[in-house]
Amino acid sequence: MWIGIISLFPEMFKAIIDYGITNKGIKKKLLTLNFWNPRDYTKKKYHNVDCNIYGGGSGVILKAEPLIKSIHAAQYKVNNSAKLFYLSPQGKKINKSYINNLLTYKNIILLCGRYKGIDERIINYYIDEEISIGDYILSGGELPAMVLIDILTRLIPGVLNTKSSNDTDSFFNNGLLDSPHYTRPRILKNKEKVPEILLSGHHKKIQEWRLQQSLGNTWLKRPDLFKKKKLTKEEKILFNEFKNKLIKKNL
Ligand code: SAM
Repeated sequence: MWIGIISLFPEMFKAIIDYGITNKGIKKKLLTLNFWNPRDYTKKKYHNVDCNIYGGGSGVILKAEPLIKSIHAAQYKVNNSAKLFYLSPQGKKINKSYINNLLTYKNIILLCGRYKGIDERIINYYIDEEISIGDYILSGGELPAMVLIDILTRLIPGVLNTKSSNDTDSFFNNGLLDSPHYTRPRILKNKEKVPEILLSGHHKKIQEWRLQQSLGNTWLKRPDLFKKKKLTKEEKILFNEFKNKLIKKNL
């Protein structure tokens, strides 16, 4: 996947270029990130990129012209084939199906706003879609863009070592949360033990236990998700068993 990023602070992206799964994706050449800084398209490098808003009020916004030039430069790199997204709290909130849809694009450009935002005419005439990472306000589009890039990279085939490491993650696990995980030591602080079943080597039973824990976890932590889930016969049995064990424990 090719991602063009328009940002006043490209250095911030070092965090995902140099570390983690995104670094892996770049090294494997499955992800390419290219940057355009609107400051490079202004007459005076440190003055012309933002301006006061018409009508008065506090704050500044990013001016249209340097953004338009950045968009053209980024699109030129991929023969005008990229879908253009603006990171914005007013956009569509990302979820699993939105992300799956984004993955169908080979080339995308992410425009990161700053300050009070960007000139509305950019949104009206250039942006294909506005994307939000949630109902809160961040100071710029860079962190949301990095969040999005990380989410996408995990799903690009070949980036993660095994497909199954994705399939069992929360939400991707048939709409359930992930099950609990444990590692060494077997006994923590002389009392907290790893569940016996995980040490049994009995793969089918371990799978069953994990499914049961996922069902219980989702029911306890995300009743909204649990309500949406249509349980199979096996899942119903496992879930009822989970509930009964919990009731017994709390008696
Ligand atoms: N005045 C804008 C509004 O209320 O819609 C918010 C501007 S915000 C301080 C500055 C920039 O951060 C935005 O232009 C946008 O690029 C980014 N941003 C802030 N919150 C975001 C969110 N929840 N999702 C995506 N981008 C966000």
